[in-house]
Amino acid sequence: MSTTRQVNFGQYNPKLCWVGDKQKICYDSEEDAEDAARLSEYQHGLPPHSLHAYKCDMGDHWHIANKKKKV
Ligand SMILES: [Zn+2]
Repeated sequence: MSTTRQVNFGQYNPKLCWVGDKQKICYDSEEDAEDAARLSEYQHGLPPHSLHAYKCDMGDHWHIANKKKKV
């Protein structure tokens, strides 16, 4: 039996959606997106709630938006 083995780097493949010229991760619920926002803030050393979840115009899912800062 020969099966094609898929390489898995231990990451899950999130659903992606094109928003403008970028792909964004889709979250199934506002809670999921907010959880991911908190995690991302932590990972990037951002202040809490500098990211927020918003509902996508393209489908029934959510994305994370960050406020653009000019540094
Ligand atoms: Zn979307």
